[in-house]
Amino acid sequence: MSETFSHSRLGCYENCKHQYKLKYRDKIRVEKDTIERFLGSMVHLTLEYTYKKANFEKVAPDKGQVVGLFGWYWRRKWNDNIVIVKRQYSKEHYRSVGEKAVARYFDQYAPFTQNKILGLEQKLNIKLDPDGLRVMTGVIDRIDEKPDGSVDIVDYKTGMNPPSQKQIDEERQLALYQIGVKELVGERKIRLVWNYLMSGIEYTSERSDAQLEALKRDTLLLIEEVESTTVFDKHPSGLCNYCEYLNHDDGKGGVYCDGKS
Ligand code: SF4
Repeated sequence: MSETFSHSRLGCYENCKHQYKLKYRDKIRVEKDTIERFLGSMVHLTLEYTYKKANFEKVAPDKGQVVGLFGWYWRRKWNDNIVIVKRQYSKEHYRSVGEKAVARYFDQYAPFTQNKILGLEQKLNIKLDPDGLRVMTGVIDRIDEKPDGSVDIVDYKTGMNPPSQKQIDEERQLALYQIGVKELVGERKIRLVWNYLMSGIEYTSERSDAQLEALKRDTLLLIEEVESTTVFDKHPSGLCNYCEYLNHDDGKGGVYCDGKS
């Protein structure tokens, strides 16, 4: 049986083959997370719960409760395996940044019922070939059906740096999700939306059928390359600081990776 791929798995391979081997071939699990990822997860949990309450339980969320919920998740899930890479910032700084982002989001989007919610943290399969021999998996933050019947695939971003339109138009993850969403909603206008929560700005892009077909072909080729790779070189970069294997004890007197070529 062929292995299951996701956008993040392919992204890992493209970033560093050594990291890919440790994570996906050797399946080495390391209890380490960065505060940026943790912050993102806590904001995601807060917004998922808020949309669920508003749309499925029909309870209008209150701003104080939503911001408080973020703080509750933060305290409840914080653990000692979370590292702060940028040492000039404190844990409190990140918590406060997240809290402000959630408060801003509330002001911008309450009561959260403007669209029909088709999915929250929605798992989906992405068929890359007509026979479904190669299927990728993905999880979409939110799928909205707008009053005009069109569909938005929404991804929350907690990174600080805004993307260019070119980056947005070439981004692979949401375009792959569009392939899976098309199977669910049929032929409708679909928009890809990246919601940058730290600035409150939405970036959007659309993909044609021809672009999606080209993406399927390119992704199949990349998966073939990944599966046939036997050399897994290190690729040191600024991202090493966020890699869970950097200088992590391998239990054999060494480390999984020293971040040097
Ligand atoms: S520390 Fe850097 S070089 Fe080493 S596995 Fe991680 S990303 Fe690759």
